[in-house]
Amino acid sequence: MTATLLDGKAFAAALRKGLSSFVDQLKQDHGLKPGLAVVLVGEDPASQVYVRNKHQSTIEAGMASFEYRLPDTTSQSELEALIDELNERSDVNGILVQLPLPDGLDDRALIERIRVDKDVDGFHVENVGMLATGVGKPLVPCTPLGSLLILQDHLGNLSGKNAVVLGRSNIVGKPMAQLLLSENATVEICHSRTQDLADHVRRADILVAAVGRPEMVPGDWIKPGATVIDVGINRIPHPEKPGKFKLVGDVHTASCAEVAGAITPVPGGIGPMTIACLLANTLTATCRQHGLAEPDLLALVRQARGE
Ligand code: NDP
Repeated sequence: MTATLLDGKAFAAALRKGLSSFVDQLKQDHGLKPGLAVVLVGEDPASQVYVRNKHQSTIEAGMASFEYRLPDTTSQSELEALIDELNERSDVNGILVQLPLPDGLDDRALIERIRVDKDVDGFHVENVGMLATGVGKPLVPCTPLGSLLILQDHLGNLSGKNAVVLGRSNIVGKPMAQLLLSENATVEICHSRTQDLADHVRRADILVAAVGRPEMVPGDWIKPGATVIDVGINRIPHPEKPGKFKLVGDVHTASCAEVAGAITPVPGGIGPMTIACLLANTLTATCRQHGLAEPDLLALVRQARGE
């Protein structure tokens, strides 16, 4: 392997440490404790794990965590009433509705009901619009934000780089492309209808793969020296342990790492960045709601690493 491994786990740990110091300072100077409310409806096992991890990480960062675990019989109007209450509360600075919701509930209507400056997932149409237009200060979806921070930390200025984003979801692909564009990269977005995908990928100085297809990108698609961000998290049968599973990304790490300059592993790459950036967004939201200077996330990471 020739590529540098971009250790998202270590990066996320440094970010969380930096956020936690910032939170301490916020308490000392302004008596403020950022609060994150997470709403989980139903029994989806993966969502249960995510919500537990979010709760734990929020507490560890010195923030307040408010969990709402509701039965799948909860109605749309009950959820709307809860969002209205959380929107009003001064101890709740960020609100997240864990997706997917059980059938019959309208997730879009709930997301649009969250106060824009408390929408720490960055999914509200006004946050999406601010990111797309460059007007105002959006809260940015967590996974793309984490990917951007890792890219900036490794590459510095992204201006003029050719970036290819594989995937156009509202959660990852589109906001990732917008963020890269706002950093003056030249951005291509590829998707399931793209023709000659390999030719597009071969032009990428920066490749962000978010397709949800296990190890879809082989090493011979990668431009020598490229930086590869693998957002994919796919569970496949373990090749050596019958009955067990292993996690792989959307790129074939071993062959891509022979050609790339740097690559994020799976697991331990972008995955840990998502929760760290949720905490970052909660802190940013708190500062904005109180008219205070918001954290410079890269500076916090570098400080936490002693640089
Ligand atoms: P979606 O399924 O919402 O979107 C997948 C995108 O990939 C679509 O735009 C689709 O194109 C495109 N696509 C699918 N197949 C191909 C193909 N063969 N060639 C080119 N493009 C293709 O997924 P998400 O964006 O939500 O997630 C993507 C991956 O990232 C998943 O593995 C997911 O688990 C992971 N993920 C990881 C997170 C983390 O914390 N690290 C957070 C969120 C997601 P089209 O639009 O044409 O259908």
